[in-house]
Amino acid sequence: MTNPVIAIVGRPNVGKSTIFNRVVGERISIVEDIAGVTRDRIYADGEWLGSNFHVIDTGGIDITDEPFMSNIRMQAEIAMEEADVIIFLTSVREGVTQTDEHIAKLLYRTNKPVLLAVNKVDNPELRADVFDFYALGFGEPFPISGSHGLGLGDLLDAAVKAFPEQPEEEEEDDTIQFSFIGRPNVGKSSLVNAMLGEERVIVSNVAGTTRDAIDTTFEDEEGQKFRMIDTAGIRKRGRVFESTEKYSVLRAMRAIERSDIVCVVLNAEEGIQEQDKKIAGYAHEAGKGIVILVNKWDTLEKDNSTYKEFEEDIRRDFQYLSYAPIIFVSAKTKQRLNKIPGVLKAINEVRSNRISSSVLNDVLMDAVAMNPTPTDKGRRLKIYYMTQVAVKPPTFVTFVNDVDLMHFSYERFLENRIRAAFGFEGTPIHMITRKRK
Ligand code: GDP
Ligand code: GDP
Repeated sequence: MTNPVIAIVGRPNVGKSTIFNRVVGERISIVEDIAGVTRDRIYADGEWLGSNFHVIDTGGIDITDEPFMSNIRMQAEIAMEEADVIIFLTSVREGVTQTDEHIAKLLYRTNKPVLLAVNKVDNPELRADVFDFYALGFGEPFPISGSHGLGLGDLLDAAVKAFPEQPEEEEEDDTIQFSFIGRPNVGKSSLVNAMLGEERVIVSNVAGTTRDAIDTTFEDEEGQKFRMIDTAGIRKRGRVFESTEKYSVLRAMRAIERSDIVCVVLNAEEGIQEQDKKIAGYAHEAGKGIVILVNKWDTLEKDNSTYKEFEEDIRRDFQYLSYAPIIFVSAKTKQRLNKIPGVLKAINEVRSNRISSSVLNDVLMDAVAMNPTPTDKGRRLKIYYMTQVAVKPPTFVTFVNDVDLMHFSYERFLENRIRAAFGFEGTPIHMITRKRK
């Protein structure tokens, strides 16, 4: 099930990123920190009175060389396409501007709920000026102040109320949901089409749970069902933003949410790029199964060491994905595409594995004997026991005397011992440390 999406639209400087940061608070992920995208992040999780949602700051998506007005249009289009509820942000300081009117015109075309918010209403005297904004045609404006945190509660109340009814939870069956994610032009939609040529499609074009998404279901010889989550099918010709990096990250994150396993697609022709790392990082962080596909393998002049060198590059650049299998494929020649279903199946299986506590604690005892627990200021970390609390992804809780004594590196070591003992190829493992009561 995916959470509803709120998009914030408005001309520059009305306070979009200020509001975005207020709403998402301090939810900064580790990967965002590592990849250095915290400053320019545009998509994050939010929560208000028990409702979870995603927020997009469309202001963060722009194309440098495009004129101002096309960027504004692009942002409005992305909001209308991706969001369930749109917050149209303006500022009381400048009043209603021409650009505001232009954005309003674009937003009239949507049938999604639009909430008009007037920002920078920092004190009650400014409230009188808010009435001018009725002229934009979106009903009663919400006066807010991003810097003072005023009025946001009422705005979010209204946003949550405007969320669409969630469709019934899809039946939990054993269908493996997967997607191809990656930068523009790595070959995602070619892979989708090539897979459809290979596999026996039993139901095509299943309307997805989210707007516009068209998924495809197929089945292998053993009757295992797969649902291929569409990520590229919503492409419409001639829209400039399809090729922007920020938008492709946004699309990838939406696909990741809906998948059990994601195929991170790289382009053999272009090698590994920064953007690939960000996209893969999100999948890892989300705890999804991961396969790395090096597509367009047909384009390389190969010798004996080509595979090895490419694999080494991947292992170096994606260190946190050491568990992910790599397949060298070609959507064009269909080379090795037939391997994909089997690999997905294997990953799906290990993600569901449950290790009994007694077996786990044997591994733990061996691990501690091999590499004594760390100490800090004369105190030693004491590990009492470990237990698996969840699957998909496999999640282990280690009970200790003092959580602060558990170093990241020791936790990593324990994870490696678990992997050495039980495999878990293709899936991240979540390690949690708790103080024993
Ligand atoms: P964006 O371009 O729409 O993302 O706008 P920013 O969030 O970057 O904000 C633009 C400027 O407006 C910054 O200098 C903010 O500090 C300021 N700002 C944002 N919210 C408020 C507010 O509620 N009151 C006042 N006085 N200034 C604000
Ligand atoms: P997407 O943006 O990731 O969905 O990429 P597309 O599937 O649209 O592919 C981008 C371009 O790469 C198209 O011109 C494809 O024909 C080409 N392409 C995709 N896969 C392969 C491949 O395996 N080999 C070669 N040579 N070209 C490919």
